[in-house]
Order: sequence, then C-alpha cells, then structure tokens
Amino acid sequence: MCIFANCFKLKFMDKTIIAGPCSVESREQLRETTEALAKTGQVSLIRAGVWKPRTRPGSFEGLGEPALRWMQELAAEYSVRYCCEVARPEHVELCQQYGIQTVWLGARTTGNPFMVEEICSALRGSGMSVLAKNPMIPDVHLWLGAIERLQAAGITDLTAVHRGFAMYNNHGYRNAPLWEVPLELRRERPDLPILCDPSHIGGQRALVAPISLAAMQLGYDGLMVEVHPHPEAAQSDSEQQITPDELQQLIDLLSTAHRAARNDDERLAAALAPLRQQIDDIDHEMLGLLAQRMRLSQQIATVKQQMQTTVYQPKRWEQVLQDRQQIAAALGLNTDFTKELLEKIHAESVRVQLG
Ligand code: PEP
Ligand code: MN
Repeated sequence: MCIFANCFKLKFMDKTIIAGPCSVESREQLRETTEALAKTGQVSLIRAGVWKPRTRPGSFEGLGEPALRWMQELAAEYSVRYCCEVARPEHVELCQQYGIQTVWLGARTTGNPFMVEEICSALRGSGMSVLAKNPMIPDVHLWLGAIERLQAAGITDLTAVHRGFAMYNNHGYRNAPLWEVPLELRRERPDLPILCDPSHIGGQRALVAPISLAAMQLGYDGLMVEVHPHPEAAQSDSEQQITPDELQQLIDLLSTAHRAARNDDERLAAALAPLRQQIDDIDHEMLGLLAQRMRLSQQIATVKQQMQTTVYQPKRWEQVLQDRQQIAAALGLNTDFTKELLEKIHAESVRVQLG
C-alpha cells in the first residue's frame, strides 16, 4: 500500500506534497494552517512538529501532548491527516494514542542506530507509515541502515526525505544538499520514494523554490515543505517557512516546469543524441588514457624500487598539481574540480604502485 493511499487530497501531477509548520505553536496557528492547506487541494499530509530537537538549549522545544490533541480534533474537523517527528519510543506511543498514522525520523535520529532501534521496537506491529530523513552527516549507509532497521521492524510504507547535510562549508545553504548522496540512495533503493525538504536545505524562503525545482529535475517523488500562516512570527525556523499562498505559487511553478519537461521529452532525446554520442566517445577515450596512465605508474613503481626510493614523491606531486591546475584554468575548467579529479587519480596511482 502506498504511504499516501488514504490521503485526503490529490497529488499534484504525480508528485506528493507534504506541508505544514515547523512546529505546532497554538491551536489557532494549527487551525489556520490546516484550513489554508486543505483549500489548496494538493497537500497529501500536513507536517507539524510536536517535539523539536533544538541545536542549543533555551529555544522553543515544542508543545508535546496538547499539540497532539489539537491535531486529532482538527484532523476530524477538516478531514486531513497529520504527520510529526518522533525521537523517542514514547513519542510513537503518544502518536498512536492520538490517531497519527505517519511519523518521521529527524536527521539527528536517523544517524543514531541505538535510537532508531528503540523507536523501531515501538513501531513494530503498529502499521504506521514512516518517513526517514537523511542523517546529519553525508553517509548513505547510515541512511540505508535506518531504513533497513525500519523494514526489519515490519514497516512497509517507507519514504526517504532529503533535508541536506551539516557541513563546515555549506556553500550558502543551511544544510548542503550534496545531491550525489540521495542519488546514491536512489541507485541502491530504486523502490523507495524520495522527497526533498527544501526548507531545511535552504534555511531561507528565497531558496525554497530553486531547490524544489532542482529536486523535480532530479526526479524526486515530491516535497516536504515548511509552511506557516505568519512565518515572521514562527517560534522555530522562521526564516525558511513560507505562507500557504507562497506554497500555492510554488506548486503552480513546479506544475508548469513539469508540463514543459514532459512535452519536450521526445524532441529533447533527438536533439541530444549526437551530443551524447560525442560524450560517449570522449569517455571511452578518457578511460583508455587512464588505463595507459596506470600502466606507466606500474613501470614507475619498478624503477623506484630499483633505485630504492619511496612511492610518494611530494615535490613531483606538487609540480603535477600546479601544472595541471594552470592548464585547467587556461582551458576554462573549474580548478577545484580539476584538483579533486587529480587527487583521485593520484591516490589510485599510489595504490597501484604500492602493489
Ligand atoms: C523539522 O522537520 O522541523 C526538523 C527538525 O527536521 P530535521 O530533522 O531535518 O532537522
Ligand atoms: Mn524545522
């Protein structure tokens, strides 16, 4: 059964939209959000945080059980469904008590196998649907591990949520997207739906739309977006929440982009064919050259052995790096990319030489 099978609203195109406030702050705030989101007719589930994991103590930590009571009442009043974050086994039990059928594991929980196991024990046999956010660090195995633990606990309605990664240099994002990590998850688990959380990746309203568009370009199954009726007054994540009207504009923008992409499918494939052929030829040539380069490394290893010197030659490596980066710059290539590529090639060459 699909996680959203019983949801009260249609999906936008074939995508799923989960939206709602970072945290429940009052009955009125939840009611106002719920009414506005129900009106869009395009939101599958309303997200609402009840227990908030805050980086530093002293900030708003969520309202706990009273918020669940309001969720239960408003779910009946507006015929909607809510989901919320669980970080402890007791949270799962309380959610069940108040009729919440879908929960999510936050980034701080997914990365902690002990806590995932404890939550799994509470989830076992519950028939609940679960969303697993990526862990804070870019380790696809940790993410996969949490998903596997949930499956082993009998959870069948499972969805991954990409919310970005905490890095020393986030390149202007709150949490660096590192798209290659969720794409690797998709490669390993093509059966698993994956949603993008542009709010926690961007950390600011202006980034929600471009990140969502990127996610659609990468074939994500939908979005989990933070929506608040008065974002500037929000008690948590105020900078990144958008209004229900802005969510509607975002959905319109994505639907237009999606339609345009669909119409162009065949013409696009035809237009790309000759260019793709050239890319294929270049890749084959590059691989042939790399193989040749590695064979030379092997010969070099023999000479170094005969001359009784070490494999790693820092001066030579420094010269190679400087020279190739200059060439790269002159050719209009990104020098950081060139450096990373050379480091990979050098590491492999050292491995080959070490035998
Ligand atoms: C949230 O969704 O409000 C939240 C705290 O998420 P994350 O675990 O991605 O930080
Ligand atoms: Mn939040």
